[in-house]
Amino acid sequence: MQRSAAGGAPILNGLSVDVEEWFQVGAFERVIDKRDWDGLASRVEANTGAVLDLFADHGAKATFFTLGWVAQRHPRLIRRIVDAGHEVASHGWDHQRVFTMDTSTFRADLKRARTALEDAGGQAVTGYRAPSFSIDTRNLWAFNELAEAGYAYSSSVAPVRHDHYGWPDAPRYAFRPLRDSPLVELPVTVAKLGDRHLATGGGFFRLLPSALTDVAIRQVNCDGHAGIFYFHPWEIDPDQPRVAAAPLRSRLRHYSRLKAMAGKLHGLVARHAWGRVDAVVAREAALLP
Ligand SMILES: [Zn+2]
Repeated sequence: MQRSAAGGAPILNGLSVDVEEWFQVGAFERVIDKRDWDGLASRVEANTGAVLDLFADHGAKATFFTLGWVAQRHPRLIRRIVDAGHEVASHGWDHQRVFTMDTSTFRADLKRARTALEDAGGQAVTGYRAPSFSIDTRNLWAFNELAEAGYAYSSSVAPVRHDHYGWPDAPRYAFRPLRDSPLVELPVTVAKLGDRHLATGGGFFRLLPSALTDVAIRQVNCDGHAGIFYFHPWEIDPDQPRVAAAPLRSRLRHYSRLKAMAGKLHGLVARHAWGRVDAVVAREAALLP
């Protein structure tokens, strides 16, 4: 593990899980109608339970960015996350990407999700992650809404070029997106390969060798910063139903290497020091001017 500059405790990296069902991912939004969601087999409680067990094996604390839709239907799961000492934060209501909303729709989405999460978990929600990292140069107004709603931080930016998302020129480390607000944005960690930025979490971690993520985390720790890693509960579920109608590209991305994922996660969690994203934000914010 990377030690801090003072040679003391290792730098805590942010461990995060985007809690959503197997059918709520952006890749399937054109082939699965939201109105059909309640009729589909729910696997989020069992899968997130397995994630909680995996973290407990390593004594690792994490942040669970959870859909309000999930919290409303699975309040027991939210309490289990809180009781284990993890942070519950918001991933919006039903995975609608922020750049498809106007300000009033986004405000309502934030409020509805937070109410469900706070009712279920009994704790204040102060962090937010946009579905599919959907805050970029098109919708910087979203930060104003988050600040107005009293959020302490967002982790909604991916400083990469990707076909579904990305803000390639965004800062790699924590920044304050607004002049007149303490709101902190903590972008997810990217690996620098030459002049290319590669995401390290989610499908990238599942599909590529985990050594790439190790290198990225060591790189940012050497720079004196925390890494932020993310994945989804459905990624450790090889038995999830298959969506045959989805485009081949989406199916290849979604279903590849699901069986190997839990083992890879055990290794990654064991090799670095991890903590809740709110704790990481507090440390990174103290480094900002
Ligand atoms: Zn998501």
